[in-house]
Amino acid sequence: MSKESEFCKCQSNKGVHAVEGEFGYWLYCTECHRKIEDEFHYYNEPDDIY
Ligand SMILES: [Zn+2]
Repeated sequence: MSKESEFCKCQSNKGVHAVEGEFGYWLYCTECHRKIEDEFHYYNEPDDIY
C-alpha cells in the first residue's frame, strides 16, 4: 500500500534525459533519476519533442 513511486514526482522538471529500451525510450528526470510517467516513446512513432 505504501509502495514508493517509481515515477518522478517533481513539480517542475529541470530537465530530462532519454534512456533507451527494447521498444522505445523512457524520459528520466535529471533531478531524481526516476521515470517521467507517461513519457515512454516508441521508436517507430514520430515524435517532435526536440
Ligand atoms: Zn524528478
